[in-house]
Amino acid sequence: MRDMTDYARGAAYLAGDYMPIAEAKIPVTHWGYRRSDVTYDVVGVRDGAFFRLDDHIARFRASMTRLRMTPPETDDEIRAILHRTVALSGLRDAYVAMDCLRASPPPGAPRHPAFAPSYLICTAVPWVWVASEEMIARGMHLMIPKVRRIPPESFDPRVKNFHWGDLTEGQFEALDAGADFAILTDAEDCVTEGAGFNVFMVAGGRVVTPARGALDGVTRASVLELCAEEGIPTEIRAIPADEFRQADEIFGCTTAGGIMPASRIDGRIMGNDRPGPLSERLRQRFWARRAEGWHATPVDYASA
Ligand code: PLP
Repeated sequence: MRDMTDYARGAAYLAGDYMPIAEAKIPVTHWGYRRSDVTYDVVGVRDGAFFRLDDHIARFRASMTRLRMTPPETDDEIRAILHRTVALSGLRDAYVAMDCLRASPPPGAPRHPAFAPSYLICTAVPWVWVASEEMIARGMHLMIPKVRRIPPESFDPRVKNFHWGDLTEGQFEALDAGADFAILTDAEDCVTEGAGFNVFMVAGGRVVTPARGALDGVTRASVLELCAEEGIPTEIRAIPADEFRQADEIFGCTTAGGIMPASRIDGRIMGNDRPGPLSERLRQRFWARRAEGWHATPVDYASA
């Protein structure tokens, strides 16, 4: 019997078993590791409730289908596993991941991914913020790096993935430029997304987000919903980098951060060097709606 304190740092489900997070390990020979042959999703838990749980499971299933991964668990089973993993951790605010990765083909089988079984890992660890409180208060400082986002024709960015070479390179370019985050462009010099978040710009009173080249973020969908509720016009279209640099306001959005306003882009100060009024209004509205139980599913803590 494990002592429940083993779970204080988080809990995991790995191919059928539950365990404290520190015990969740994969073989280094698995293609999930050696080839980044893995897809994942992340759902947030705040104040003991999941946000848009079914949307995350649906996107996860679509990603697995696209990569031809067939773990044994059904969507209903995945939902129950996520509840139990969070319940075991006891966390009220958690970063909850579901990963599906390919193992490696058994000895004697062809070295082809079709012969490698895929399996599920779910983890719940203490909540993390993509941008610090200070960055949210003063607005993120963004830059557009030289490195381009992997073309959608090479790997579909709507499949949440660990092919982070471009995003990681962008983070180092941002560090060298004294910025907080990089926003990558595509081969046509249009804006895509940042390392772990989608982007919006505000121009002429309209809230605009790129049409392609990025993950279909669940928070992005929530922003579009909020704008509809508030009567704010939105557009989903290509955003050339030059237009983005001249935006009235810019904000990022992600599960582990909500709406994250920016105040600088490539050294240019937007407005008064603080989060823009529309970004800040949406950010506050987002958390107010969350506090009201918007798209919330209470965690079944009794399932531990
Ligand atoms: N884009 C990328 C590359 C991401 O990894 C993420 C989330 O981790 C997002 C966008 C935001 O997606 P979501 O709002 O569904 O968390």
